[in-house]
Amino acid sequence: MKSKNVEFVISPGPAHMVGDGFRVHNFIPAHPSLSMHRMSPFIMLDYNAKMYVVPSNKPKGVGVHPHRGFETVTIAYKGKVAHHDSSGGGGIIGEGDVQWMTAASGVLHKEYFEEEFSKKGGEFQMVQLWVNLPAKYKMSPPKYQAILNENMGRVDLENNAGRLEIIAGEYLNAKGPASTFTPIYLITAYLNENGVHNFKLPENYNTGLVVLEGEIEVEGKKASANQFVLMSKEGENFEVKASKESKVLILSGEPINEPIAAHGPFVMNTREELIQAFMDFNEGKFGYLED
Ligand code: MN
Repeated sequence: MKSKNVEFVISPGPAHMVGDGFRVHNFIPAHPSLSMHRMSPFIMLDYNAKMYVVPSNKPKGVGVHPHRGFETVTIAYKGKVAHHDSSGGGGIIGEGDVQWMTAASGVLHKEYFEEEFSKKGGEFQMVQLWVNLPAKYKMSPPKYQAILNENMGRVDLENNAGRLEIIAGEYLNAKGPASTFTPIYLITAYLNENGVHNFKLPENYNTGLVVLEGEIEVEGKKASANQFVLMSKEGENFEVKASKESKVLILSGEPINEPIAAHGPFVMNTREELIQAFMDFNEGKFGYLED
């Protein structure tokens, strides 16, 4: 069987602040090899590498802002995030939980450190993905899925290699709880030192790995914590070996082969739809959310 090759091992670029709380490295689409089309349906990936949150009575984060045309998926690996949106969705996610917000036709939302976590301070690590929607779902109603760690699909790997937590997709007979509009795999791998797993994901899916902890070899190529590994579209299998105890996010999805018109918090198919999004937002059609 043909293998997927490593196209690039990509180091994080300079970090920037999102609001006054999150300090992120953008991989998609900032890196020239990780365009919205190349990693479709994943059109944005902000990685908040592990950092220490200084205690604060007023939770830091990002205030009320709109989205239309896609989904925001936030994975909390350390610390806690609170979220509220104008369609009534919201909640708190902690270590290993995921919030999956379908903005679709449009929501306002805000994202902050959870109050108690903010007061105490502590370690924080997070991934935020934007998952594109096909044209036919871009204007569907908003939706919110709180995905708790205890509900993830689970796989114990052979030979004590480690374990997998499946957020989305069905892998080795374990099903992730997220409902998605296009076929997606989102998996966190916890690998023991010297643990090896031969992943098998569909040919032509766009596939990448974020090394969250540790150090791995993917098809013989080394990647260490905070690096992104871009896999070739061709082939199905690729071997991941942990040189030391490691934690890796694997993302893989069927590309949405449609035009992309993106500006700020809106991702549509045409320029006209983008202009409409700005008009609708300015006219208050995204609802109301208190700051
Ligand atoms: Mn947002």
